[in-house]
Amino acid sequence: MTSTTNTHCTDDASLSFETKAIHAGYDRQANADAISVPIYASAAFDLENAQRGDALAGGAISGFEYSRVANPTVDALERRIAALENGIGAVAVSSGMAAVSYALMCAGEGGGRIVAPVNLYGASVDALGDFLPQFGIHGDFVENINDLAAVEAAIGPDTKAIYTESVVNPSTAVADIEGLAELAHRHGIPLIVDNTVPTPYLLRPIDFGADIVVHSTTKGITGHGNAIGGVIVDAGRFDWTNGRFPQFTRDDLVISDQKAGEWNSFASRFGNQAFIKRVRTKYLRTFGAVQSPFNAYLQLIGLETLAVRERQEVGSALAIAKHLQGLAHVTRVNYASLEGQSTYDLARKYLPEGVGTILSFTVEGDADDVRRILDGTRVFSYVPNIGDSRSLIVDPTHVTHREVPQRYYDAAGVSDNLIRLSIGLENTDDLIADLDQAIQGAY
Ligand code: PLP
Repeated sequence: MTSTTNTHCTDDASLSFETKAIHAGYDRQANADAISVPIYASAAFDLENAQRGDALAGGAISGFEYSRVANPTVDALERRIAALENGIGAVAVSSGMAAVSYALMCAGEGGGRIVAPVNLYGASVDALGDFLPQFGIHGDFVENINDLAAVEAAIGPDTKAIYTESVVNPSTAVADIEGLAELAHRHGIPLIVDNTVPTPYLLRPIDFGADIVVHSTTKGITGHGNAIGGVIVDAGRFDWTNGRFPQFTRDDLVISDQKAGEWNSFASRFGNQAFIKRVRTKYLRTFGAVQSPFNAYLQLIGLETLAVRERQEVGSALAIAKHLQGLAHVTRVNYASLEGQSTYDLARKYLPEGVGTILSFTVEGDADDVRRILDGTRVFSYVPNIGDSRSLIVDPTHVTHREVPQRYYDAAGVSDNLIRLSIGLENTDDLIADLDQAIQGAY
């Protein structure tokens, strides 16, 4: 009897999202046939012999040397997320903010301006409005990222990127990714999208023209509130040699062979992978916000159930949003999948299966009423996070969006009366009953 080998699928682009989330980017046969990705708790890897060591260090062959730059467990996570986002490559980092900062710095390196909406996540507003300017990278904020005329007016000769969140936290407003990508490309700049809130299950910005996608994998991708992480994904389509980005065209010692007199730039050596290679070789290697193999493992486990979790949580989020619309003391509900919301048409176009697992709402009264509601919930946990399997509640102006300057509050849709929910996997009726009793008890 002849025997055949069961060849495990790893990188078949035609597979569906659910299948890729479980299989993409991992080669069992290269990993002792382990069906679950092993945790490679090893700081460094044997170079084996001088000839191989030289080839590895020079980049002539690929392999692992040192876990600050690459690690096999983290590599599987990077390949899997790149496959899910339809990118050509990814770099996993230790947090979502590391992903945001590295992506913005890599595009804006050497000094420049980034056009972005004022309603970004608080730490991203602080990064672009206050901290990155200390490094020569300045944010030009627009009140509405879908006002393409205002975005275009903000683009100048030293603009290096348009940056937006696909679905805004906490308003859930949806960005017009196709319109923004077309505008960015007309001006020779990339579109960078933070796709944390919808996760790649609900939206893949690269399919609509985005060049770089970043995630806080802490949220829906991990899905159980047990690991901090981030990832940067490259679509591999943007032309970094168009004259605006000298960091990609000048010779760089770290990717050259000075002994042989051979000099390379990131563009000449890596072609359409120039951006993602620069993130790894310069940013990860220098600033060192590396993803730990253990956290990468938790994120891989989370990815396996992403589709089923999102379906369940989005269903609950929509039911809760509709219920809140008719509830006493609730003055407004923000969930872009609801008819009548300002970006409802964009939600239908880009996120037909739902805008995600967060929503927000305003209540009568002031911050004291909000505090009584927060303190009154029993199933919801008062936690500054989203995308957990537990349902979470928070007051953005006091916690998650503290860094947003007061003058941006209206445009960012945050006020002292605002409450944000992140919907988990509990029974929907239990969640609704919990909100009902907390809101009734507060007045
Ligand atoms: N981007 C968005 C949209 C977020 O909501 C967050 C955190 O809440 C981040 C980035 C930062 O992620 P992390 O906390 O993993 O650094």
